[in-house]
Amino acid sequence: MVQWSKTFVSWVKDRTLFVSVVFSWDLPAVERRFCLQRSMEFDRIVIGGPAIRAVPNYFSQYEFVTAGGDLDLAFKLHNKQATRTSIGCVRHCPHCGVDHIEGRFRLLKRFAPGNVLIDNNLTALPMNHFHRAMDHVDKYSTRDNPGDIQGVDVRFINEEHARRIKCARINVLRIALDSFSYVDQWDRALEILFAAGIPKRKIRSYALVAFDTDPGEGWKRCEHILKRGIKPLPMFYRPPDILDKNRITDNQEKMGWNDFERRRIMQWFYQHKAAVKY
Ligand code: SF4
Repeated sequence: MVQWSKTFVSWVKDRTLFVSVVFSWDLPAVERRFCLQRSMEFDRIVIGGPAIRAVPNYFSQYEFVTAGGDLDLAFKLHNKQATRTSIGCVRHCPHCGVDHIEGRFRLLKRFAPGNVLIDNNLTALPMNHFHRAMDHVDKYSTRDNPGDIQGVDVRFINEEHARRIKCARINVLRIALDSFSYVDQWDRALEILFAAGIPKRKIRSYALVAFDTDPGEGWKRCEHILKRGIKPLPMFYRPPDILDKNRITDNQEKMGWNDFERRRIMQWFYQHKAAVKY
């Protein structure tokens, strides 16, 4: 039987326990649960998912644990609706773990069923592949169960992307403004999306904070997003191999971040105190 917890998904087959973990900071909980208190139900453990790719040696002291596994299976286990049409990303942003976890950028020929499209960079796809990806989302979306797309890189978006997205059966479209260095392209992408008739209420914009700028810059960027009528979703930077989710790194401390500042920005924008007027 497959078991879901907040931190991992696990199941036993042929006396082997399989565990899939998404985030590196959940690895200590998996270790406590399965390695430090071993069950008689299984002899071996196979641990997979993005977390183990980020910290491949985490379990090396346990001879009964093997690290590895299929990433696509991991995504499916954590979100049954998840699907993707490409792996990796054409960009190599310094804050991102995709290169390390997924390897070089490549297109897939066959796509798993699902309407939550988790390609890392949807608008970097060749245009015919992009259309196939959107058709795939539509195939699995209904009025009651609309699709969700992420990876819309504002630096690549054009009118054809926007027109196709407008026709898609989706209710959420996720873009990002991770740095002010491309704010003009972000603004221009919004104009393209609005001109195609995509309403503001369907658009969310991530904003990476605490990577290489101070709290003031993070707030300014989130407020810029809000002023354009888009819901900002700040994402607090965590190194891909971090084992304690709430740890503020030395570099973040130097930039003026601490636990109070982290909570302040996350709570303000996620608890809807910053209302978006549509
Ligand atoms: S565009 Fe997104 S997925 Fe690609 S490297 Fe940058 S942050 Fe990662």
